[in-house]
Amino acid sequence: MKYDIWRDAEEKLHALYGEEIHLPVTARYQREKKRMQNTDMEMLLTFLRHLACRFRELKATFTLRGRTGASFACWLLEITDVNPLPPHYYCPHCRRIEFSNEEKYGWDLPEKTCSCGTGMLRDGMNTVFLPEIDLPDSVHMDLDIPGELQDDVQKELLAFFPDQRFYRRETVKNDMVRYSFLPKVDGPEANQQERIIGKPTGNVQMFIDIYPHFFFLNAPKNALLWDLCRKTEVKPDQIPCLSPELLRAYFEYKLPGNLYDSVFKNAALIKAIKPEQFSELLPLLGLGHANMEGQEQIKAQIQSDHQVLYDYDFFFEDIYDRVLSFLRAKGVFNDDLAVQAANLAKSGRFLRRGFSEGIQIELIKHGVPESYIAYLKKIRYVYPRAHMLTNILRDLRLAWFFINHSSLWDEMSGKYFIKEC
Ligand SMILES: [Zn+2]
Repeated sequence: MKYDIWRDAEEKLHALYGEEIHLPVTARYQREKKRMQNTDMEMLLTFLRHLACRFRELKATFTLRGRTGASFACWLLEITDVNPLPPHYYCPHCRRIEFSNEEKYGWDLPEKTCSCGTGMLRDGMNTVFLPEIDLPDSVHMDLDIPGELQDDVQKELLAFFPDQRFYRRETVKNDMVRYSFLPKVDGPEANQQERIIGKPTGNVQMFIDIYPHFFFLNAPKNALLWDLCRKTEVKPDQIPCLSPELLRAYFEYKLPGNLYDSVFKNAALIKAIKPEQFSELLPLLGLGHANMEGQEQIKAQIQSDHQVLYDYDFFFEDIYDRVLSFLRAKGVFNDDLAVQAANLAKSGRFLRRGFSEGIQIELIKHGVPESYIAYLKKIRYVYPRAHMLTNILRDLRLAWFFINHSSLWDEMSGKYFIKEC
């Protein structure tokens, strides 16, 4: 079976941007297409496109985890809500697009009216998608879904891939289900086999990690959002989650703490810094997720001088951006080294000495300061900004209910999270 996501993606591309598409848009699209074409990503994305339609019918949402949240192809296919292009204005009426250097992130751009009189959309979260390292070995996608929809997802998978067998594994706590796409079996034997396998044997067991797979995680926030949308008959994708009023409440920390990310530990810091836009809030959320040596000292430094926040990088993509800017200053425009550096730093491989000596030498040779490499060596883990952005959109949709349907919120949110003191 051929999975042609590109025809659909290109149709959307032209419907939005016309025939003459701006260079940053085509460049971004072509880069992703070149990397993902003829890989199993096509199969996974085709299914997710189908699942997104199914979820929309139900007024439910899924939330992409990991770096695919900032894939432009996924955005065109309506699998993610995060537009990863550079910051820009877009006129939904006359399709005018205007890139802007005024802010780092499109959601921070000031309001603007198009020359045709229509209010322009402000978008473009400026986030690179780097599947380069992952793709050759293990093609997978992880999603948050309402737990109640796990059975539905399995039904859809089996119907969508009528001759495919899957190895299904649940975690002990039943909070995550994984489906691995098993190699096809031909002949009469194929008909006799169960299509969902719970216990792999032999070669299947040995290679299980390299088969393409999905992880579906039961996410209380997606479950709550689904409940709220059904009760109020609101479609989740039509919630005005980036309205100025909602964002003001969000930046002023007037919303329940669990709407700032479930593992967010920096409430005190955020309240002290009072971010006014995403470019200030995002690094703080990244710091909340990151794990590094000397983290408490870094927090103390930021506490006494807020500007220090920008001396460090707390997201995977920020490391990529920073290394790339050093390389460009030296006239290097190929980004392979930046991809590698970000990927090694992300999971703490600079910290575990000896593993990345060659790359360190290359980085220094190409203008990356030793002080920055010393910082990379402190990192145990940093989070993908793409993942944070998909989380934020879900949190803001929930926040809209907190503000506009407060009694319903009070009644229902307790079922999903513990109230904060
Ligand atoms: Zn216009």
